[in-house]
Amino acid sequence: MKLLVATSQTQGERANDFNHCVEGELLWIAPCCDDGESSPDSHCGCGRSFGGLNSHRGTTTALVAELPGFTCSDYAEALRSSLAAQGWPPSAADEVAAGLLAFAFNWEVGAVLERRCDLFVERLVTAPG
Ligand SMILES: [Zn+2]
Repeated sequence: MKLLVATSQTQGERANDFNHCVEGELLWIAPCCDDGESSPDSHCGCGRSFGGLNSHRGTTTALVAELPGFTCSDYAEALRSSLAAQGWPPSAADEVAAGLLAFAFNWEVGAVLERRCDLFVERLVTAPG
C-alpha cells in the first residue's frame, strides 16, 4: 500500500522549506487556515506543509512510500488516534484515510511531493536521500 511519509529529501530547495517531522513518519494533509489558504508561502506554512501523525509537526516534503503489510484499517486507526490527539474529529479518520490512499495511489513510489495549497507537485530528486 502506498502512503505519504516524512522525508528530508529535497529540503532546502525552497527558501521557506521546513521539516519538523520524524523521518519516515506517516503524514496527512491537514486543512489550512485562512492565511495558508491565500498563500502557500504564508508565515504559518500550513498551505505548504504535510502533517506528521506522530510528531504533530509539519514538513514541506513528503515521500511516496510503499509500506508492505500495512492495511487501510491500520492507516485509519493511526489517523483516528492522531486526529483525536490534535483536536480534529476522529470520526473523520475513515474518510481522510480513503482520501489519502486515493491520493498516494496516483504517484510513483519514491516521488518527493510538495504542497502549494490544493496543488501537489513532484520535486525532482537530484541526489539519493
Ligand atoms: Zn496557516
